[in-house]
Amino acid sequence: MKVDALIIGAGPAGMMAAGTAARNGLSVCLLEKNAALGKKLRITGKGRCNVTNACDVRTVVGSAPTNGRFLYGAVSQFSPADTVTFFEELGVPLKTERGNRVFPVSDKAADIAEALAAYARNAGVKVVHGEASALLLENGCVRGALLKDGEQIFAENVVVCCGGASYPGTGSTGDGYRLAEQAGHQITPLRPSLVPLVAQDGDAEDCRDMMGLSLRNVAVRITDIKTKKTVYEDFGELLFTHFGLSGPVILSASAHMRSMEPDRYRVSIDLKPALSSEKLDARLLRDFGENRNRDFANSLTALLPHKLIPVAVRRSGIPPETKCNALTREMRRSFGALLKNFEIGVAGFRPIAEAIVTSGGVAVDGVNPKTMESKLVRGLFFAGEVLDVDAYTGGFNLQIAFSTGRLAGNSMSADEQARKKGEVKQ
Ligand SMILES: Cc1cc2nc3c(=O)[nH]c(=O)nc-3n(C[C@H](O)[C@H](O)[C@H](O)COP(=O)(O)OP(=O)(O)OC[C@H]3O[C@@H](n4cnc5c(N)ncnc54)[C@H](O)[C@@H]3O)c2cc1C
Repeated sequence: MKVDALIIGAGPAGMMAAGTAARNGLSVCLLEKNAALGKKLRITGKGRCNVTNACDVRTVVGSAPTNGRFLYGAVSQFSPADTVTFFEELGVPLKTERGNRVFPVSDKAADIAEALAAYARNAGVKVVHGEASALLLENGCVRGALLKDGEQIFAENVVVCCGGASYPGTGSTGDGYRLAEQAGHQITPLRPSLVPLVAQDGDAEDCRDMMGLSLRNVAVRITDIKTKKTVYEDFGELLFTHFGLSGPVILSASAHMRSMEPDRYRVSIDLKPALSSEKLDARLLRDFGENRNRDFANSLTALLPHKLIPVAVRRSGIPPETKCNALTREMRRSFGALLKNFEIGVAGFRPIAEAIVTSGGVAVDGVNPKTMESKLVRGLFFAGEVLDVDAYTGGFNLQIAFSTGRLAGNSMSADEQARKKGEVKQ
Protein backbone atom coordinates (compact mmCIF):
# COMPACT_ATOMS: atom_id res chain seq x y z
CA MET A 1 0.00 0.00 0.00
CA LYS A 2 1.21 3.51 -0.76
CA VAL A 3 -0.31 6.65 0.79
CA ASP A 4 0.72 10.26 1.34
CA ALA A 5 0.65 9.86 5.12
CA LEU A 6 0.88 6.90 7.49
CA ILE A 7 -0.25 7.49 11.06
CA ILE A 8 0.93 4.84 13.53
CA GLY A 9 -1.45 4.60 16.50
CA ALA A 10 -5.14 5.49 16.66
CA GLY A 11 -5.26 7.23 20.01
CA PRO A 12 -6.47 10.82 20.33
CA ALA A 13 -3.23 12.18 18.79
CA GLY A 14 -3.33 9.76 15.85
CA MET A 15 -7.01 10.14 15.02
CA MET A 16 -6.65 13.92 15.12
CA ALA A 17 -3.53 13.85 12.91
CA ALA A 18 -5.16 11.45 10.43
CA GLY A 19 -8.44 13.36 10.12
CA THR A 20 -6.63 16.67 9.76
CA ALA A 21 -4.30 15.43 7.01
CA ALA A 22 -7.14 13.74 5.11
CA ARG A 23 -9.26 16.90 5.24
CA ASN A 24 -6.27 18.73 3.80
CA GLY A 25 -6.40 16.42 0.77
CA LEU A 26 -3.83 13.75 1.64
CA SER A 27 -4.39 10.03 1.23
CA VAL A 28 -4.03 8.72 4.78
CA CYS A 29 -3.63 5.30 6.37
CA LEU A 30 -4.27 5.06 10.12
CA LEU A 31 -2.55 1.96 11.52
CA GLU A 32 -3.81 0.56 14.84
CA LYS A 33 -2.86 -2.71 16.48
CA ASN A 34 -6.05 -2.98 18.56
CA ALA A 35 -9.42 -3.96 17.15
CA ALA A 36 -10.96 -0.74 18.55
CA LEU A 37 -9.75 2.81 17.93
CA GLY A 38 -8.98 4.94 20.99
CA LYS A 39 -8.97 2.11 23.52
CA LYS A 40 -7.32 4.26 26.20
CA LEU A 41 -9.47 7.27 25.33
CA ARG A 42 -12.55 5.17 26.16
CA ILE A 43 -11.43 4.68 29.79
CA THR A 44 -10.29 8.24 30.44
CA GLY A 45 -11.80 10.26 33.28
CA LYS A 46 -13.23 7.09 34.88
CA GLY A 47 -15.16 6.49 31.66
CA ARG A 48 -16.36 10.10 31.47
CA CYS A 49 -13.34 11.59 29.59
CA ASN A 50 -12.01 14.88 30.91
CA VAL A 51 -11.51 16.01 27.31
CA THR A 52 -9.78 19.34 27.95
CA ASN A 53 -9.50 22.18 30.44
CA ALA A 54 -11.39 25.43 29.81
CA CYS A 55 -8.31 27.62 30.15
CA ASP A 56 -5.93 29.69 28.06
CA VAL A 57 -2.84 28.53 26.19
CA ARG A 58 -0.49 29.72 28.91
CA THR A 59 -2.27 27.62 31.55
CA VAL A 60 -1.94 24.47 29.42
CA VAL A 61 1.76 25.15 28.90
CA GLY A 62 2.20 25.85 32.63
CA SER A 63 0.48 22.57 33.48
CA ALA A 64 3.18 20.52 31.75
CA PRO A 65 6.03 20.42 34.29
CA THR A 66 8.63 19.33 31.75
CA ASN A 67 8.98 20.91 28.31
CA GLY A 68 5.80 22.97 28.58
CA ARG A 69 7.33 25.63 26.36
CA PHE A 70 7.84 23.10 23.57
CA LEU A 71 4.04 22.89 23.38
CA TYR A 72 3.40 26.59 23.00
CA GLY A 73 3.12 26.57 19.18
CA ALA A 74 0.94 23.46 19.04
CA VAL A 75 -1.47 24.60 21.75
CA SER A 76 -1.65 28.14 20.29
CA GLN A 77 -2.78 26.65 16.98
CA PHE A 78 -5.28 24.26 18.52
CA SER A 79 -6.30 25.53 21.95
CA PRO A 80 -8.75 24.23 24.57
CA ALA A 81 -11.40 26.54 23.05
CA ASP A 82 -10.75 24.88 19.67
CA THR A 83 -11.17 21.45 21.26
CA VAL A 84 -14.55 22.47 22.67
CA THR A 85 -15.72 23.84 19.29
CA PHE A 86 -14.32 20.77 17.53
CA PHE A 87 -16.32 18.25 19.56
CA GLU A 88 -19.47 20.34 19.69
CA GLU A 89 -19.38 20.62 15.89
CA LEU A 90 -19.01 16.85 15.75
CA GLY A 91 -22.25 16.61 17.73
CA VAL A 92 -20.85 15.97 21.22
CA PRO A 93 -22.06 18.71 23.61
CA LEU A 94 -19.65 19.45 26.45
CA LYS A 95 -19.95 20.82 29.99
CA THR A 96 -17.42 22.40 32.34
CA GLU A 97 -17.03 21.20 35.92
CA ARG A 98 -14.90 22.06 38.97
CA GLY A 99 -11.34 23.10 38.11
CA ASN A 100 -12.40 24.01 34.54
CA ARG A 101 -12.48 20.33 33.66
CA VAL A 102 -14.47 19.75 30.48
CA PHE A 103 -16.51 16.55 29.98
CA PRO A 104 -19.11 15.37 27.47
CA VAL A 105 -22.64 16.16 28.70
CA SER A 106 -23.40 12.45 28.27
CA ASP A 107 -20.56 11.56 30.72
CA LYS A 108 -19.50 8.94 28.18
CA ALA A 109 -15.87 8.79 27.04
CA ALA A 110 -17.02 6.51 24.21
CA ASP A 111 -18.87 9.47 22.66
CA ILE A 112 -15.57 11.34 22.36
CA ALA A 113 -13.78 8.30 20.92
CA GLU A 114 -16.58 7.58 18.42
CA ALA A 115 -16.74 11.23 17.30
CA LEU A 116 -12.99 11.34 16.73
CA ALA A 117 -13.00 8.04 14.83
CA ALA A 118 -15.89 9.29 12.68
CA TYR A 119 -14.00 12.55 12.05
CA ALA A 120 -11.11 10.52 10.62
CA ARG A 121 -13.20 7.97 8.72
CA ASN A 122 -15.54 10.58 7.18
CA ALA A 123 -12.50 12.44 5.89
CA GLY A 124 -11.54 9.32 3.92
CA VAL A 125 -8.87 7.93 6.26
CA LYS A 126 -8.24 4.24 5.62
CA VAL A 127 -8.01 2.36 8.90
CA VAL A 128 -5.70 -0.68 8.83
CA HIS A 129 -5.42 -3.02 11.81
CA GLY A 130 -1.82 -4.10 12.25
CA GLU A 131 1.30 -3.45 14.29
CA ALA A 132 4.22 -1.36 13.05
CA SER A 133 7.51 -3.06 13.93
CA ALA A 134 10.02 -0.80 12.15
CA LEU A 135 10.26 2.37 10.12
CA LEU A 136 11.42 2.28 6.51
CA LEU A 137 14.20 4.84 6.29
CA GLU A 138 16.29 5.93 3.30
CA ASN A 139 18.86 8.72 2.96
CA GLY A 140 17.60 10.63 5.97
CA CYS A 141 13.97 10.40 4.84
CA VAL A 142 11.14 8.20 6.04
CA ARG A 143 9.57 5.94 3.40
CA GLY A 144 6.92 4.12 5.43
CA ALA A 145 6.77 1.29 7.93
CA LEU A 146 7.19 -2.45 8.16
CA LEU A 147 4.38 -4.34 9.90
CA LYS A 148 4.79 -7.30 12.21
CA ASP A 149 3.14 -9.57 9.62
CA GLY A 150 5.79 -8.59 7.05
CA GLU A 151 3.58 -6.21 5.05
CA GLN A 152 4.97 -2.79 4.17
CA ILE A 153 3.08 0.49 3.95
CA PHE A 154 4.85 3.17 1.94
CA ALA A 155 4.45 6.86 2.77
CA GLU A 156 6.63 9.96 2.52
CA ASN A 157 5.07 11.20 5.78
CA VAL A 158 4.82 9.09 8.91
CA VAL A 159 3.49 10.19 12.30
CA VAL A 160 4.55 8.10 15.29
CA CYS A 161 1.83 8.51 17.93
CA CYS A 162 1.94 5.16 19.72
CA GLY A 163 1.40 6.68 23.19
CA GLY A 164 3.58 6.03 26.25
CA ALA A 165 4.22 2.93 28.34
CA SER A 166 1.45 3.17 30.91
CA TYR A 167 -1.70 1.03 30.91
CA PRO A 168 -0.09 -1.30 28.32
CA GLY A 169 -3.35 -3.26 28.08
CA THR A 170 -4.72 -0.35 26.04
CA GLY A 171 -2.00 -0.78 23.39
CA SER A 172 0.59 1.74 24.59
CA THR A 173 3.46 -0.69 25.10
CA GLY A 174 6.33 1.65 24.33
CA ASP A 175 6.61 0.79 20.59
CA GLY A 176 6.88 4.48 19.70
CA TYR A 177 10.13 4.79 21.65
CA ARG A 178 11.67 1.89 19.74
CA LEU A 179 10.62 3.40 16.39
CA ALA A 180 12.03 6.80 17.42
CA GLU A 181 15.32 5.22 18.55
CA GLN A 182 15.58 3.42 15.21
CA ALA A 183 15.43 6.87 13.57
CA GLY A 184 18.24 8.09 15.84
CA HIS A 185 16.15 9.97 18.42
CA GLN A 186 17.13 10.18 22.08
CA ILE A 187 14.62 8.87 24.60
CA THR A 188 14.49 10.73 27.91
CA PRO A 189 14.30 8.05 30.66
CA LEU A 190 10.72 6.99 31.33
CA ARG A 191 9.07 7.34 34.71
CA PRO A 192 5.50 7.12 35.91
CA SER A 193 3.42 10.23 36.56
CA LEU A 194 -0.10 10.60 37.95
CA VAL A 195 0.56 7.34 39.77
CA PRO A 196 -0.26 5.83 43.20
CA LEU A 197 2.36 5.98 45.97
CA VAL A 198 3.96 3.09 47.84
CA ALA A 199 4.24 3.77 51.58
CA GLN A 200 7.36 3.14 53.65
CA ASP A 201 7.42 -0.15 55.54
CA GLY A 202 5.80 0.81 58.88
CA ASP A 203 3.30 3.16 57.27
CA ALA A 204 2.44 0.57 54.62
CA GLU A 205 1.04 -1.66 57.38
CA ASP A 206 -1.22 1.15 58.53
CA CYS A 207 -2.36 1.74 54.95
CA ARG A 208 -3.06 -1.98 54.54
CA ASP A 209 -5.16 -1.93 57.71
CA MET A 210 -7.23 0.89 56.19
CA MET A 211 -7.35 -0.66 52.69
CA GLY A 212 -10.43 0.44 50.77
CA LEU A 213 -11.05 3.47 52.96
CA SER A 214 -11.71 6.50 50.77
CA LEU A 215 -11.60 9.91 52.42
CA ARG A 216 -13.64 12.38 50.38
CA ASN A 217 -12.26 15.72 51.43
CA VAL A 218 -8.89 15.76 53.11
CA ALA A 219 -6.06 18.27 52.78
CA VAL A 220 -2.81 16.79 51.53
CA ARG A 221 0.65 18.32 51.72
CA ILE A 222 3.76 16.74 50.19
CA THR A 223 7.14 17.66 51.67
CA ASP A 224 10.48 17.04 50.01
CA ILE A 225 12.51 15.84 52.99
CA LYS A 226 15.83 16.73 51.33
CA THR A 227 14.98 20.36 50.53
CA LYS A 228 12.43 20.69 53.37
CA LYS A 229 10.10 22.34 50.87
CA THR A 230 6.40 21.76 50.31
CA VAL A 231 6.07 20.57 46.70
CA TYR A 232 2.29 20.16 46.60
CA GLU A 233 -0.76 21.11 48.65
CA ASP A 234 -4.42 20.52 47.83
CA PHE A 235 -7.77 19.18 49.00
CA GLY A 236 -9.39 16.14 47.52
CA GLU A 237 -10.21 12.45 47.65
CA LEU A 238 -7.63 9.98 48.96
CA LEU A 239 -7.75 6.20 49.00
CA PHE A 240 -5.80 3.85 51.28
CA THR A 241 -4.68 0.67 49.49
CA HIS A 242 -2.77 -2.50 50.31
CA PHE A 243 0.49 -0.82 49.21
CA GLY A 244 -0.04 2.80 50.26
CA LEU A 245 -2.01 5.70 48.84
CA SER A 246 -4.05 6.38 45.73
CA GLY A 247 -7.06 8.49 44.75
CA PRO A 248 -7.32 11.70 42.72
CA VAL A 249 -5.43 14.00 45.10
CA ILE A 250 -2.52 11.53 45.37
CA LEU A 251 -2.31 10.99 41.59
CA SER A 252 -2.18 14.76 41.12
CA ALA A 253 0.45 15.09 43.84
CA SER A 254 2.68 12.44 42.22
CA ALA A 255 3.28 14.66 39.18
CA HIS A 256 4.99 17.16 41.51
CA MET A 257 7.36 14.60 43.03
CA ARG A 258 9.92 15.05 40.30
CA SER A 259 12.96 13.76 42.22
CA MET A 260 11.49 10.49 43.44
CA GLU A 261 13.89 8.28 45.36
CA PRO A 262 13.15 6.01 48.33
CA ASP A 263 12.10 7.96 51.43
CA ARG A 264 12.50 11.36 49.75
CA TYR A 265 8.91 12.55 50.23
CA ARG A 266 6.42 12.62 53.07
CA VAL A 267 2.64 12.91 52.74
CA SER A 268 0.91 14.85 55.48
CA ILE A 269 -2.84 14.35 55.61
CA ASP A 270 -5.10 16.76 57.46
CA LEU A 271 -8.01 14.46 58.32
CA LYS A 272 -10.12 17.37 59.59
CA PRO A 273 -9.42 20.25 57.21
CA ALA A 274 -12.69 22.02 58.04
CA LEU A 275 -11.69 22.40 61.71
CA SER A 276 -8.86 24.62 62.97
CA SER A 277 -6.64 23.03 65.67
CA GLU A 278 -8.59 24.99 68.31
CA LYS A 279 -11.98 23.92 66.95
CA LEU A 280 -10.83 20.30 66.71
CA ASP A 281 -9.62 20.44 70.33
CA ALA A 282 -13.01 21.82 71.40
CA ARG A 283 -14.71 19.03 69.45
CA LEU A 284 -12.52 16.37 71.12
CA LEU A 285 -13.20 17.90 74.53
CA ARG A 286 -16.94 17.68 73.87
CA ASP A 287 -16.79 14.11 72.49
CA PHE A 288 -14.64 12.86 75.38
CA GLY A 289 -16.95 14.66 77.83
CA GLU A 290 -19.99 12.91 76.36
CA ASN A 291 -18.17 9.56 76.66
CA ARG A 292 -16.60 10.09 80.09
CA ASN A 293 -16.84 6.47 81.21
CA ARG A 294 -16.06 4.82 77.89
CA ASP A 295 -12.68 3.62 76.62
CA PHE A 296 -10.79 6.16 74.49
CA ALA A 297 -10.77 3.70 71.54
CA ASN A 298 -14.57 3.43 71.69
CA SER A 299 -15.22 7.16 71.83
CA LEU A 300 -14.21 8.11 68.30
CA THR A 301 -16.98 6.68 66.13
CA ALA A 302 -18.67 10.04 65.58
CA LEU A 303 -15.38 11.69 64.62
CA LEU A 304 -13.52 9.18 62.43
CA PRO A 305 -14.34 6.46 59.89
CA HIS A 306 -14.42 2.96 61.34
CA LYS A 307 -11.22 1.69 59.62
CA LEU A 308 -9.19 4.68 60.72
CA ILE A 309 -9.89 4.43 64.43
CA PRO A 310 -7.56 1.51 65.41
CA VAL A 311 -4.70 3.02 63.36
CA ALA A 312 -5.18 6.50 64.85
CA VAL A 313 -5.38 5.05 68.36
CA ARG A 314 -2.21 2.98 67.78
CA ARG A 315 -0.34 5.99 66.41
CA SER A 316 -1.44 8.17 69.34
CA GLY A 317 0.41 5.96 71.85
CA ILE A 318 -2.55 6.38 74.24
CA PRO A 319 -3.60 3.00 75.70
CA PRO A 320 -6.90 2.21 73.96
CA GLU A 321 -8.68 1.24 77.18
CA THR A 322 -7.92 4.60 78.86
CA LYS A 323 -11.23 6.01 80.10
CA CYS A 324 -12.08 9.31 78.44
CA ASN A 325 -12.31 11.05 81.82
CA ALA A 326 -8.66 10.06 82.43
CA LEU A 327 -7.35 11.66 79.23
CA THR A 328 -5.09 14.60 79.99
CA ARG A 329 -5.11 17.88 78.08
CA GLU A 330 -1.70 16.93 76.57
CA MET A 331 -3.06 13.59 75.38
CA ARG A 332 -6.07 15.31 73.82
CA ARG A 333 -3.95 17.98 72.16
CA SER A 334 -1.41 15.50 70.77
CA PHE A 335 -4.28 13.36 69.43
CA GLY A 336 -5.73 16.45 67.72
CA ALA A 337 -2.29 17.25 66.28
CA LEU A 338 -2.08 13.67 64.94
CA LEU A 339 -5.40 14.08 63.11
CA LYS A 340 -4.27 17.40 61.61
CA ASN A 341 -0.95 15.91 60.51
CA PHE A 342 -1.34 12.21 59.74
CA GLU A 343 1.95 11.31 58.08
CA ILE A 344 2.80 8.63 55.54
CA GLY A 345 6.40 8.26 54.33
CA VAL A 346 6.77 7.50 50.61
CA ALA A 347 8.99 4.61 49.48
CA GLY A 348 8.35 5.27 45.77
CA PHE A 349 5.88 5.20 42.90
CA ARG A 350 3.83 2.22 41.77
CA PRO A 351 5.08 0.81 38.42
CA ILE A 352 4.68 2.74 35.17
CA ALA A 353 2.02 0.27 33.97
CA GLU A 354 -0.26 1.71 36.69
CA ALA A 355 0.48 5.35 35.87
CA ILE A 356 -2.07 7.56 34.14
CA VAL A 357 0.70 9.05 32.03
CA THR A 358 4.31 8.35 31.11
CA SER A 359 6.81 11.07 31.82
CA GLY A 360 9.91 11.06 29.59
CA GLY A 361 9.94 9.84 25.99
CA VAL A 362 11.11 11.23 22.64
CA ALA A 363 13.47 14.09 23.59
CA VAL A 364 11.95 17.33 22.35
CA ASP A 365 15.23 18.87 21.23
CA GLY A 366 15.10 16.42 18.30
CA VAL A 367 11.63 17.61 17.23
CA ASN A 368 10.66 20.93 15.61
CA PRO A 369 8.04 22.54 17.91
CA LYS A 370 6.58 24.50 14.97
CA THR A 371 5.74 21.37 12.96
CA MET A 372 6.26 18.27 15.19
CA GLU A 373 8.65 17.01 12.48
CA SER A 374 11.83 15.17 13.41
CA LYS A 375 14.96 17.25 13.06
CA LEU A 376 16.82 14.07 12.08
CA VAL A 377 14.59 12.33 9.55
CA ARG A 378 12.62 14.14 6.89
CA GLY A 379 8.88 13.37 6.80
CA LEU A 380 8.88 11.76 10.26
CA PHE A 381 6.58 13.37 12.85
CA PHE A 382 5.69 12.72 16.49
CA ALA A 383 2.51 13.55 18.41
CA GLY A 384 0.96 12.82 21.80
CA GLU A 385 2.29 11.01 24.82
CA VAL A 386 5.24 9.41 22.99
CA LEU A 387 6.91 12.83 23.27
CA ASP A 388 8.73 13.85 26.45
CA VAL A 389 5.81 15.95 27.63
CA ASP A 390 3.28 15.20 30.32
CA ALA A 391 0.92 17.33 32.33
CA TYR A 392 -1.03 17.48 35.55
CA THR A 393 -4.60 16.16 35.80
CA GLY A 394 -7.43 18.35 34.51
CA GLY A 395 -7.76 17.43 30.82
CA PHE A 396 -4.32 18.77 29.86
CA ASN A 397 -2.89 15.46 28.63
CA LEU A 398 -5.66 14.96 26.10
CA GLN A 399 -5.38 18.60 25.03
CA ILE A 400 -1.67 17.98 24.36
CA ALA A 401 -2.53 14.91 22.27
CA PHE A 402 -5.11 16.88 20.24
CA SER A 403 -2.86 19.94 19.75
CA THR A 404 0.26 18.01 18.73
CA GLY A 405 -1.80 15.66 16.52
CA ARG A 406 -3.45 18.60 14.81
CA LEU A 407 -0.11 20.34 14.22
CA ALA A 408 1.51 17.19 12.80
CA GLY A 409 -1.50 16.70 10.51
CA ASN A 410 -1.34 20.26 9.20
CA SER A 411 2.45 20.28 8.86
CA MET A 412 2.54 17.10 6.75
CA SER A 413 -0.15 18.51 4.54
CA ALA A 414 1.79 21.73 3.94
CA ASP A 415 4.92 19.67 3.29
CA GLU A 416 3.19 17.22 0.99
CA GLN A 417 1.54 19.96 -1.05
CA ALA A 418 4.92 21.68 -1.46
CA ARG A 419 6.48 18.34 -2.42
CA LYS A 420 3.78 17.71 -5.01
CA LYS A 421 4.40 21.15 -6.49
CA GLY A 422 8.10 20.28 -6.59
CA GLU A 423 9.03 22.98 -4.09
CA VAL A 424 10.65 20.60 -1.62
CA LYS A 425 13.83 18.72 -2.46
CA GLN A 426 13.32 15.01 -1.92
C1 LIG B 1 -7.00 5.41 33.20
C2 LIG B 1 -6.61 6.68 32.47
C3 LIG B 1 -7.42 7.79 32.55
C4 LIG B 1 -7.06 8.98 31.90
N1 LIG B 1 -7.89 10.04 31.97
C5 LIG B 1 -7.56 11.20 31.33
C6 LIG B 1 -8.46 12.30 31.32
O1 LIG B 1 -9.60 12.22 31.81
N2 LIG B 1 -8.04 13.45 30.72
C7 LIG B 1 -6.80 13.57 30.12
O2 LIG B 1 -6.46 14.65 29.62
N3 LIG B 1 -5.96 12.50 30.06
C8 LIG B 1 -6.32 11.34 30.63
N4 LIG B 1 -5.47 10.25 30.53
C9 LIG B 1 -4.23 10.37 29.73
C10 LIG B 1 -4.57 10.25 28.23
O3 LIG B 1 -5.46 9.18 28.03
C11 LIG B 1 -3.31 10.03 27.38
O4 LIG B 1 -2.37 11.04 27.67
C12 LIG B 1 -3.66 10.03 25.89
O5 LIG B 1 -4.52 8.94 25.59
C13 LIG B 1 -2.42 9.96 25.00
O6 LIG B 1 -2.85 9.93 23.67
P1 LIG B 1 -1.95 9.29 22.52
O7 LIG B 1 -2.76 9.36 21.28
O8 LIG B 1 -0.63 9.93 22.52
O9 LIG B 1 -1.69 7.78 22.97
P2 LIG B 1 -2.70 6.56 23.26
O10 LIG B 1 -4.03 7.05 23.66
O11 LIG B 1 -1.97 5.67 24.19
O12 LIG B 1 -2.85 5.87 21.84
C14 LIG B 1 -1.76 5.22 21.21
C15 LIG B 1 -2.32 4.18 20.25
O13 LIG B 1 -1.24 3.65 19.47
C16 LIG B 1 -1.45 2.26 19.30
N5 LIG B 1 -0.17 1.62 19.02
C17 LIG B 1 0.89 1.53 19.86
N6 LIG B 1 1.92 0.90 19.26
C18 LIG B 1 1.49 0.60 18.00
C19 LIG B 1 2.10 -0.08 16.89
N7 LIG B 1 3.35 -0.56 16.95
N8 LIG B 1 1.39 -0.24 15.76
C20 LIG B 1 0.12 0.21 15.68
N9 LIG B 1 -0.52 0.83 16.70
C21 LIG B 1 0.16 1.04 17.85
C22 LIG B 1 -2.07 1.83 20.60
O14 LIG B 1 -2.76 0.60 20.48
C23 LIG B 1 -2.97 3.00 20.92
O15 LIG B 1 -4.28 2.83 20.42
C24 LIG B 1 -5.84 9.05 31.15
C25 LIG B 1 -5.03 7.91 31.07
C26 LIG B 1 -5.40 6.73 31.71
C27 LIG B 1 -4.52 5.52 31.58
